[in-house]
Amino acid sequence: MEILQLIYDEIIGFLGISQAWEILNTGNYSALKTYDGMVALIRPILPLLLLLEFTLGLIYKKPQIKVYKVNFLIYIFNRFIGRFIAIAMVVWIIGWLQPFALFQTKMTWYWFVYGYIVWEFGHFLYHYWGHKVRLFWCLHSTHHAPEDMNLTVTHAHFFLEAPYADAIRTTVCILLGVSPTMLFIIMFIDGTYGSFIHVGENILKDGRLGFLNKFILTPSHHRVHHAKNPLYMDTNFCNLLNIWDKVFGTYQEEVKEVKVEYGITREMDSGNFFDVYFGEIVALVKDVIKAPGIKNKILYIFMPPGWSHTGDHQTAKIARNNFLGKEFKTSKLRFHS
Ligand SMILES: [Zn+2]
Ligand SMILES: [Zn+2]
Repeated sequence: MEILQLIYDEIIGFLGISQAWEILNTGNYSALKTYDGMVALIRPILPLLLLLEFTLGLIYKKPQIKVYKVNFLIYIFNRFIGRFIAIAMVVWIIGWLQPFALFQTKMTWYWFVYGYIVWEFGHFLYHYWGHKVRLFWCLHSTHHAPEDMNLTVTHAHFFLEAPYADAIRTTVCILLGVSPTMLFIIMFIDGTYGSFIHVGENILKDGRLGFLNKFILTPSHHRVHHAKNPLYMDTNFCNLLNIWDKVFGTYQEEVKEVKVEYGITREMDSGNFFDVYFGEIVALVKDVIKAPGIKNKILYIFMPPGWSHTGDHQTAKIARNNFLGKEFKTSKLRFHS
């Protein structure tokens, strides 16, 4: 019976409904006016949306079984090993770096806007390096393996990716004066929205969100980020405010003529948990062993994925530039880059 209780607790925990349920049961609706009350109400939305998406997938007969199966295994695996590392990392960095903060912001709406822009900058850095440094790509590639898009992709992460991401984001925020309370509020909003942008076509066919596509990062932008088409590779690194993509020239809109193909360019089996989770590490270790000389071995670890000691580089940047070069010559398509 204990195992059934465990499964029950895990499901309730995943859905995040226990607090909202308690508020509804006790009739203590005034709690909803507090920050904790609002969090309790918002938290279950995405897990419930995920269940709806799964059900619609079955109804529409587009079940994306491979993606659901592997992401479910990743979720279970990460539940066992990675859960507390990221939280400990954030608390440790706050305690360590706060004395070095350049200044301290207050809890006002304009400092909130400032905090969010700073957070997005930290997010951009972590995510950009996750694509451009081979070692960090080993941590991030699990998230890019799925060959379809749905809300379970939110859970497809290598267990060390969260501590790596939070180390960078928290450091940037704390040093630039974002208060820890503000940081946790931003983390919650960012986490919720960051889940939402993985909504699949079974719920939202057009991910552009109308006019919002002009101003914020939409599911459409994030679908582009998950694509392996040369035009789309290594673009849209932001999460909600895509100002830093626009500043650093990595902004790319979904183009009607170029249909998104999800996944990564390495030959792999996206239905195999071990390949999805450890495949890039295995590939890197093989390259390092094979590389001549210590300098080349180190370069493999820190250069972008696709870099080769032979000079025959196949990086995303080269693929994209080749594509843009060819397309600009042969067609009148307008690509926003
Ligand atoms: Zn990415
Ligand atoms: Zn994603």
